[in-house]
Amino acid sequence: MATIGVVGAGAAAAAATFVVDEALPDADVTVFEKSGGLCGRAATRRHGDLTYDYGANYVKSDSERVSELLTETLDDDGLVDVTERINTFDESGEVTEGREPDGHKWSYRQGLTQIAKRLFGRTDAEIHRRTRIETLRRGDDETWTVVDTDGEAYGPFDALVLNPPAPQTAELLRSAEWESPVKEPLIDAVADVPFRTVWTAVLHYPFELDLPYYGLVNTDKDHEVGWISREECKAGHVPDGESLLVVQANHEWSVEHYDDDPAANVDALAAHTAEIVGDERLTAPDWSDSQGWRYALPDEGALAGPLDSAREEGLYCTGDWVGGEARVHVALENGLEVGEELVFGR
Ligand SMILES: Cc1cc2nc3c(=O)[nH]c(=O)nc-3n(C[C@H](O)[C@H](O)[C@H](O)COP(=O)(O)OP(=O)(O)OC[C@H]3O[C@@H](n4cnc5c(N)ncnc54)[C@H](O)[C@@H]3O)c2cc1C
Repeated sequence: MATIGVVGAGAAAAAATFVVDEALPDADVTVFEKSGGLCGRAATRRHGDLTYDYGANYVKSDSERVSELLTETLDDDGLVDVTERINTFDESGEVTEGREPDGHKWSYRQGLTQIAKRLFGRTDAEIHRRTRIETLRRGDDETWTVVDTDGEAYGPFDALVLNPPAPQTAELLRSAEWESPVKEPLIDAVADVPFRTVWTAVLHYPFELDLPYYGLVNTDKDHEVGWISREECKAGHVPDGESLLVVQANHEWSVEHYDDDPAANVDALAAHTAEIVGDERLTAPDWSDSQGWRYALPDEGALAGPLDSAREEGLYCTGDWVGGEARVHVALENGLEVGEELVFGR
């Protein structure tokens, strides 16, 4: 019976686990997730009657495989499609009508975390939440063991899947107790993946906004705000008569203000939002939330060669940064591929 350890419970890890469990029902898969939730950066919170995706905003239908997974393989009950358009704004905050919407922009009534919840829910995988893996160990018998921050060891595993964002995976690899010519090139390849930082403000208003769009994206990347979207465009997320805006600052602003007082950051982003949308009332949300994403968006993918060599030693990386684009569907597609490699080999 194959034993597989999975570090991280993001969308890619969920897809890989799903494939392994379908093909090898006897495989013994154990997942370790440092946070209390599933689905990583495709993250959802609830507050009273509000449901909001505060990391990824939606999953696109750009991958046929992933669309089939979400609409046919998995239960599509509660899948919601945002049909309103996305307009653009420039450095000065001037809004211009964007392209006609193409393809789907999916979430769920209960939020994007449903993706990992439904995928893992179809498997027998054992999931350890609030378990941060700190050390990876390669045994003489060519198995892997992982150790968490409390010093608890888990394993041995025939194969190990690493799903954290590249900078965190690089950290795990640097401290790995593993002698191999593959190790240094792998660390270099993973550490080379550049990640952008995003600071997110979630702004609630006790009134409706009469706007012709779902979102606004800054196309020249010179505005402090990179993205504004309306959660009320997702069925089931916001009660009638209210509005909930998700506002993402650009990389430079997010890095500069990452450790500032969250309330001051929210005020600053609400002021920008009011100016861009052209509605003074938006300076004063009646409730807000926030999240800093230090490792939000990979700008490119990792070099494939070292990742392939690591697989020969039972070590598999998976995620958007392996697939090469900061998108949920890319992470899912990569997870499906990595799951197949685990089952069928290359
Ligand atoms: C602000 C923001 C907006 C975005 N907008 C969109 C969008 O609109 N559309 C879109 O398609 N994509 C968007 N993305 C990108 C999308 O969220 C990601 O591409 C996708 O969720 C990545 O999934 P993943 O499985 O590769 O990794 P992750 O979701 O990062 O999962 C990795 C998991 O590993 C866990 N972990 C890390 N270290 C450890 C450790 N040592 N031990 C145990 N667990 C660990 C983490 O907690 C996490 O759960 C956005 C991302 C952000 C942050």
